[in-house]
Amino acid sequence: MSDHLAGGYDLVVFDLDGVVFLIDKPIPGAAGAIDRLRSGATPIAFATNNASRRAADVAALLTGMGVNAEPAEVLTSAGAAAALLAERLPAGAPVLVVGAEALRAEVRDAGLTPVGTAEDEPVAVVQGYGPEVGWKILAEATLAVRAGAAWYATNTDRTLPSPRGPLPGNGSLVAVLRTALGRDPDVVVGKPQPGLFRTAAAQSRAQRPLAVGDRLDTDIQGAVTAGMDSLLVLTGVSGPADLLAAPADRRPTYVAADLSALFRPAGESRLPAVGDEARPGDAARLPVSGVESGSGDGARLPVSGVESGSGDGARLPVSGVESGSGDGARVPVSEVGAGLGVSGDEVPWTELGGWRLTRDADRVTLDGSGSPVDALRLLCSATWTGVATSAITGGSDEARELVKSWNLPEAT
Ligand SMILES: [Mg+2]
Repeated sequence: MSDHLAGGYDLVVFDLDGVVFLIDKPIPGAAGAIDRLRSGATPIAFATNNASRRAADVAALLTGMGVNAEPAEVLTSAGAAAALLAERLPAGAPVLVVGAEALRAEVRDAGLTPVGTAEDEPVAVVQGYGPEVGWKILAEATLAVRAGAAWYATNTDRTLPSPRGPLPGNGSLVAVLRTALGRDPDVVVGKPQPGLFRTAAAQSRAQRPLAVGDRLDTDIQGAVTAGMDSLLVLTGVSGPADLLAAPADRRPTYVAADLSALFRPAGESRLPAVGDEARPGDAARLPVSGVESGSGDGARLPVSGVESGSGDGARLPVSGVESGSGDGARVPVSEVGAGLGVSGDEVPWTELGGWRLTRDADRVTLDGSGSPVDALRLLCSATWTGVATSAITGGSDEARELVKSWNLPEAT
């Protein structure tokens, strides 16, 4: 079982919007992938920032799409927010609810009293996404917070994925209050906070959980914060350009077009393990000017945005150009990325799945052809070690088309 990606994990925690479905339409192949995990006895959980549905509603929605799901497997930011409020407030305390009926119900079931105006003197405001949220309730929330109520946001996703493109998410509605109040929420409950993932892992007693999501700034950052491996699927919000530009604390372990990657070898989706400066206790990694030194080799000194080579003390990068090894200024990226490897360094970083990458001064050129995901993985080995996304050029026709389709800035 462990020859495929999911086989290396004892729990798979799925985000929902952009991973399993888009709003209310199932993503092709998702139901089958989840059923296949179940038939292989891999425990499953669902962790969603969307606060507009309760766990039982989410389970029913999933089941209606052909994905068997139990309410106990579903963690929502609405449920987590209500649980947190109940922990911190006296029973029956008035809480102003900005959001969907589901959030109101969670607050009520947690033993608190949902209210709808500032006159009810709420001690807290809890704000989650709801399609009916309008100016009036936002105005009440503004008044309540200004009067001293604590402000909880279920999540701050700026957008919701939809078949018509990203739509305003709770983060956009939180921004209304943030603008009116001139300050941030007191508490944000959902991803990228690690709470939902940690609760899912604890409930399953998982030692090696995998998080699967479509957003770098929530799912993937939450997984990094929770210390979990993660898979980014390109069926939702975050795209290739986002991944290439991802800061170290938003870099997934794997990337794939969709969930079918769970049943293929892990090495086909693995990303370069660089830039984990968020990882605790690795003092040898020193980010300098937005660029990290290499993988624990204290001799590596990044200078002027370019890394030094793989432990060769004679190689000293100067002014953004590496000193070459006899072939002029043209240095293969593998010299930079060596030791950062894929699957135990078996795959050289100059080539992957039919693609080839060369570095010419501070520019990288992608040549050849192959799958878009392989090209993306190969390019991440360059951009995650300091190459700007604007410095990526397509050499072959296919590479040029691909780079263009990703809407990367053209190299000049
Ligand atoms: Mg999502």
